[in-house]
Amino acid sequence: MSFFSSPRCRFAPVGLLLGLAALVSPVHAVNIVINAGTALSANSAALAAFNRAAVKWENLLLDPVTVTIDANLASLGSGILGQAGSTLLAGGFAGIRNAMVFDNTGGALQALTDALPTSANAFVPTNRGLTNNLAASKANLKALGFTGLDAQYGVADATITFSTNFNFDYDNSNGVTAGFYDFESVAVHEIGHSLGFFSAVDSAATNLTMRTLDLFRFGNSDNPTTLAEFTTAKRELRSGATAFFDLINPLYGSPTQFGFSTGTSGDGRQASHWKDDSITGNYLGIMDPTMSSGFIGTISQADLMALDVIGWDVNYAALNVPEAASLATWVFALLGLGAFARYSGRRR
Ligand SMILES: [Zn+2]
Repeated sequence: MSFFSSPRCRFAPVGLLLGLAALVSPVHAVNIVINAGTALSANSAALAAFNRAAVKWENLLLDPVTVTIDANLASLGSGILGQAGSTLLAGGFAGIRNAMVFDNTGGALQALTDALPTSANAFVPTNRGLTNNLAASKANLKALGFTGLDAQYGVADATITFSTNFNFDYDNSNGVTAGFYDFESVAVHEIGHSLGFFSAVDSAATNLTMRTLDLFRFGNSDNPTTLAEFTTAKRELRSGATAFFDLINPLYGSPTQFGFSTGTSGDGRQASHWKDDSITGNYLGIMDPTMSSGFIGTISQADLMALDVIGWDVNYAALNVPEAASLATWVFALLGLGAFARYSGRRR
């Protein structure tokens, strides 16, 4: 994979890293740059909310990389609050897999990533196949230590667009106005996609390329309970099949399985999300696929573990969960995931 340089090491032991950081610099290291388009620039309240959303992630992620997001406001399709299109890049499975292993060395989930398979292995729909590549957002690859990507593929890591067809509340510090949607929550969600929260399940490709998060996507047909089984079990990439983010009970406490949406042809939600709390009654995190008006979404431990295992260095101690906002009337609104800006082929 000549277009990728060698990954760099992520992690001193946590205590050492935090202690050092406290002496010399702020703990957070990720820099999220928002390039606002004309409409967003003209709405200072919206831009401020977007920047607060970026700071939320900056406070939780320690990787010394810059993530650039082009953002704007525009009329989107019916029922879509916002959407993110990320630059998605694919490389040989083993090369990216090995970077994930290396990145998590010393981390809390190292045992799990050490047990990652060395080639693609998943249930796929009938008449579909699987490539032996692995795909990730450009931002995700930066977190994994790959460099030179902006020069080769352009500076933007993602393009996020917010719908102008909804009433947004741009300041949730005093709650969210009834009937309005919390702009900041949508921004936090869409940035989450940009960081790499994806699945290949809704891909139209004949031969699917697994996304980094798909390596932790299992179903009832082959549900691993040991690290050895985690290595060999087939991941679940069939739309409509029950699927969950699995951290292998009992190694990481309970619960260690977090439901994923099963796809646009499955439960009707894009598979690059947690299982919808409007279906289960159980809110799993900011990567929930829908949001009601009046609701403030929060980043959860599950959100952070998903980003951790795919290559981000997470400061779990910085996670504080605000009180749940009161749920207003449920209005079904999709937090969409747009077409990818670029999907490179295999590079050697
Ligand atoms: Zn989404």
